[in-house]
Amino acid sequence: MSCSRETSDPQAWFGRMVQNCLDYAQAGKAAGRPVVGILCEYAPRELILAAGGIPVCLCGGDADLIPAAEAHLPANLCPLIKSTYGYHLRKQNPLLEMADLVVAETTCDGKKKMFELLAETRPTHLLELPQKENDDDALEHWTRELRLFKAALESRFQVAITDDRIRSAIAVMNRERALRRALAELMKVEQPPLTGRQLLGFKSLISGIPADHEQYEAALQLFVGRLAREPHAASCLGGQRAEVGSGESEARGLRPVRVLLTGVPLVHGAERVMDIIETHGGLVVCQENCTGLKPILEDVDIKAPDPLRALAEKYYRLPCSVKTRNGARQTLLRRLAGEYRAECVIELIWQACHTYAIESFQIRRLAEEELDLPYLRIETDYSPSDSARIAVRVEALFEMVRSRDAKQAAASSGRCLP
Ligand code: SF4
Ligand code: SF4
Repeated sequence: MSCSRETSDPQAWFGRMVQNCLDYAQAGKAAGRPVVGILCEYAPRELILAAGGIPVCLCGGDADLIPAAEAHLPANLCPLIKSTYGYHLRKQNPLLEMADLVVAETTCDGKKKMFELLAETRPTHLLELPQKENDDDALEHWTRELRLFKAALESRFQVAITDDRIRSAIAVMNRERALRRALAELMKVEQPPLTGRQLLGFKSLISGIPADHEQYEAALQLFVGRLAREPHAASCLGGQRAEVGSGESEARGLRPVRVLLTGVPLVHGAERVMDIIETHGGLVVCQENCTGLKPILEDVDIKAPDPLRALAEKYYRLPCSVKTRNGARQTLLRRLAGEYRAECVIELIWQACHTYAIESFQIRRLAEEELDLPYLRIETDYSPSDSARIAVRVEALFEMVRSRDAKQAAASSGRCLP
């Protein structure tokens, strides 16, 4: 698939992302390529690409599929798991219906047990993720798991996955990560040329689509060019002003508050909290989570003598809350808060996500006591029923940031504020 002239607007291209992915998967299937579903950033897409496969993200972001899932799963379970399982039961995700294999993983308990049910009717390969951070034995075990996964792909799809094929796939994924990273880094400037929500839209359910890479490049050219021409211009995209901040904030002449968003991933269809933040006075300058920077910050060493081991090392270092301890996430947050000049931290937790919920105690402590940044924890699911309450809490957080700012500015100028 290549992008034509009529689709040379990157935002329009990614606005049709789901249809693009369906077209790409259907064409790939017709050409004999297997479709392999993944539900986690620990799943190494490079091995799927090296097997000639199409790696497809199957995480569900639709609230409407949750009631169906609750016929089998407990109601008190993460909405991401329930939505994904609802798609499975209802057979409503065409990409899942096309999948020749689903890659499951032992990450959180909810996903792990849901995969057992899904595996009753769909071909599944389970990756066992050991969970001790910085542990040599754990990394050895994970490397063995990837070797088993490679063997399973070779046997199922009758292909030899050579080191050269793995290196070619690493090159593709390194390029994709570099392009997405460069786009995300545009948010470091004082007045970014796009909103966090627009940045979140530059993504794909399928990795390694050449036309997506062309569009990432086009988007970069567009925004970098705009920044060079108008370094102090207000946020805008495609000639239109980006919708940052609520009407009320804008009417009061308030600048958007820079937000570091952390916690669970905002999978396709579940972007509601990001929308609330950015329509009530915030600008998400950095997403640390799995739909943001976390999985794309580190590349794989393409020159490593054993490319599979290099893959294992890169993926094992991903700092997810399913690890124990998960100190690398705090190191990453320290770094990102500084680089993106965050003014506050908002942590999103899907209901019944125990690992992120418990880890939030450490993240709040890091934000408030070490980084001296106001912190807000939002625990919710896919239902819009609490949107108004979340908006009130987000606005209160931004008011706190602004009044702190004003006090600091007054103190440094020797003025008194009431
Ligand atoms: S948050 Fe953890 S379990 Fe979820 S996709 Fe990321 S790495 Fe996987
Ligand atoms: S958000 Fe939490 S509970 Fe849900 S799938 Fe991810 S790690 Fe598991």
